[in-house]
Amino acid sequence: MSEVCVIVGASHAAAQLATSLRTEGWEGDILVIGDEPSLPYHRPPLSKAVLAGDKTLDQILIRPAAFYEKQNVQFRLDTKVTAIDLQSKTLTTSKEETIQFDKLALCTGARPRKLNIEGNHLGSVHYLRTAEDIENIQKNVAAGKKAVIIGGGYIGLETAAALRKLDVEVTVLEAMDRVLQRVTAPEISAFYNRVHAEEGVTIKTNTVVKAIEGSGSVQAVILDDKSRLEADLVIIGVGIEPNIELAQATGLSVDNGVLVNEFALTSHPDIVAAGDCTNFPAASGQRMRLESVPNAMEQAKSAAASICGNQKGYTANPWFWSDQYDMKLQIAGLSQGYDQVVLRGDYESGRSFVAWYLKDGKVISADCVNRMKEFMVAKKLILSGDSVDPARLADDSIDPREL
Ligand SMILES: Cc1cc2nc3c(=O)[nH]c(=O)nc-3n(C[C@H](O)[C@H](O)[C@H](O)COP(=O)(O)OP(=O)(O)OC[C@H]3O[C@@H](n4cnc5c(N)ncnc54)[C@H](O)[C@@H]3O)c2cc1C
Repeated sequence: MSEVCVIVGASHAAAQLATSLRTEGWEGDILVIGDEPSLPYHRPPLSKAVLAGDKTLDQILIRPAAFYEKQNVQFRLDTKVTAIDLQSKTLTTSKEETIQFDKLALCTGARPRKLNIEGNHLGSVHYLRTAEDIENIQKNVAAGKKAVIIGGGYIGLETAAALRKLDVEVTVLEAMDRVLQRVTAPEISAFYNRVHAEEGVTIKTNTVVKAIEGSGSVQAVILDDKSRLEADLVIIGVGIEPNIELAQATGLSVDNGVLVNEFALTSHPDIVAAGDCTNFPAASGQRMRLESVPNAMEQAKSAAASICGNQKGYTANPWFWSDQYDMKLQIAGLSQGYDQVVLRGDYESGRSFVAWYLKDGKVISADCVNRMKEFMVAKKLILSGDSVDPARLADDSIDPREL
């Protein structure tokens, strides 16, 4: 009888893992079980082109159904895996099936962190993680409506930009003293503040939400200074939490994510994990969780290799992007621990510049707004670990390829 690899979660990581299993030589069955109704789709466009109405859900599938058929990858959608029994190597689903596996991959991703405030159950209060969330938001959206977005991170700001395109009145509330505080330098926060103001978004920092008011649906958001903001809809984007409960209940090691090694192996030799749900060892030796598509894809390749008995070590190679208005931000590396920021280009009045993050004279990360060439160079500089002259990084007259 042929061996079975079951992948839990029909996600970005799952789509890559299933494909990589075939290229790594897996000849057995592959079954992907996901609790959403759709084949794996790209989540990043949800808060960008899909919300703005420029793309449909059909247009963001990672692969069409025909591709998986050709690869002989089976799907059970709308189905949650509720328990895993390691002794019998079976799992149970919400449809009360018992499914046998030889190898298992956990690609359970993450879910939005809930905001525990009065009124958070009201209709027209939304989170943004799934295609279904977008469909629900779109039912509440129309030109002239008032949207309050709680959380000034990338998802909140992208949502603001998409809603402005639909002529929605948007206010973003951020509890910290600047947007994107967790991930960027103050100059970048100031830049996004300015651009959103130019596009008609009101951003309120140092602002904590006390309650959401309404009967049935939202009418207003109440702030901690007791002021009241009228609202027709609220979108909450205050971070995510990894889906680790299934792994935990199975007895796998977890700690802010499913613990995996550099080969994406969990604490059980027949179980791998990949994507947002994992906590993995970074090159620095520290463990980390990354919430990004490129990371999910790379880790899935290692996971597939491990299942097939091959070893493909995985080093996080973080890069991210964010589309807002006419700006493409591309981020290379992780800026945590930087001791110097060098700016290149006009970030005070323009919309094209680079913020280089340095530590001990070496580039560790870069935020590149509408700067494709610098983004490519930044990736190379980060990998090389070479020291660079900050004055040259700042000099916009030097061709980036000569840096
Ligand atoms: C609006 C938005 C914008 C984003 N923008 C960017 C961006 O610009 N760039 C970027 O790099 N990243 C972006 N991200 C993050 C990126 O989408 C995630 O890093 C990526 O989706 C992670 O993929 P994953 O495979 O780990 O799992 P996920 O995409 O989280 O999928 C996991 C799936 O598993 C399912 N599942 C969980 N438990 C079970 C179970 N027990 N049984 C069955 N199914 C289960 C979940 O419901 C879900 O469908 C964005 C995310 C969102 C929501």
